[in-house]
Amino acid sequence: MSSTTVRPATTYRTVVRRVLGLPTQDGAGVKLTRLVGSPQLPDLDPILMLDTFRSDDPKNYSAGFPEHPHRGFETVSYMIKGSIAHLDNHGGRGIVTDGCVQWMTAGSGVAHSEMPAQTDGQMFGFQLWINLPAAEKMRKPWYRDIPASEIPSFDVGSGAKAKLIAGEWNGVKGPGPERSTQPLLVDVALDGKASVEVPVPQGHAGFVYVFEGSLRVGAETVTENEIGVLSGGASLKVAADGEGARFLVVAGKPIREPIVKYGPFVMNTPDEIRRAIQDYQSGRF
Ligand code: MN
Repeated sequence: MSSTTVRPATTYRTVVRRVLGLPTQDGAGVKLTRLVGSPQLPDLDPILMLDTFRSDDPKNYSAGFPEHPHRGFETVSYMIKGSIAHLDNHGGRGIVTDGCVQWMTAGSGVAHSEMPAQTDGQMFGFQLWINLPAAEKMRKPWYRDIPASEIPSFDVGSGAKAKLIAGEWNGVKGPGPERSTQPLLVDVALDGKASVEVPVPQGHAGFVYVFEGSLRVGAETVTENEIGVLSGGASLKVAADGEGARFLVVAGKPIREPIVKYGPFVMNTPDEIRRAIQDYQSGRF
């Protein structure tokens, strides 16, 4: 028997599937695109949903999301342009504007409203839902607005810049809270043909969402408005194809528990969903 340590070559993640979002409506008629959480891609454990809303016509979003509940997971909103005014029943209140993030851990239950508004005629943002494990679904609700100035923005190579919202990159930590799902959420911009290696932790599930340009991941090209679902692997190497690219990388540690979704409630069993509805209706949120 040889005792030689064999160091395997780095296994890069590939794109196993490309998905174009599904145009839909939510709230009081807000037009949005659902990339994760639609019939074509119900979830990517622990990511439950990714919506984007992008419009220069206030008719498409001004009715907003009047009061509605959540239980059992976290919502993360990231505004590229425009704002969202948030008000909840636990005293949370704030306006998330250009480049800012709102992180809300609904836990045992939050009822809130989210009302979008434009900046300079533009409105472009994302909302991500990240699941919580059974043991944390009923944790105390938590809420934080993260101003753009607290989101580290740094060079990650020649012509490559990262804004790190959650997770770790080159020893820099994002301001997102520590969670057992260890979320990585980063906004990356590449010039021209720049390339970068993104430190997606091994074992995490995740995807890239390209919102400007197109991105090469191994032999695949993920084009604007598509997500590329990532294979397993030790690292993620991506490159812009000459015109530059801007994209989110979203990843988390899978929870591997049953998921029962009912609108704004995401629990482990149908009974827990029934209890969530009863609790909300009888004012226990
Ligand atoms: Mn909401």
